[in-house]
Amino acid sequence: MTHDELRRCRDCRRYTFGEVCPACGAPTGNPHPARWSPEDRYARYRRALLAEAAREGRGTAGTTAPASEEPEQH
Ligand SMILES: [Zn+2]
Repeated sequence: MTHDELRRCRDCRRYTFGEVCPACGAPTGNPHPARWSPEDRYARYRRALLAEAAREGRGTAGTTAPASEEPEQH
């Protein structure tokens, strides 16, 4: 088990690396997918684009993608 994944208690909001909060014993979960580097994000976005292009035959993209931020593509 890798311990570089930060989790957070859903009860007392305490950050921990364990699956159970050491303070109150409540189950913990991912507070955020915050371990993404920009590279990861672009890679993931590119993969999504590729998958969508393959599915739709390189037609209109951007169906279910969270288009709040646009990648810097030219
Ligand atoms: Zn707790």
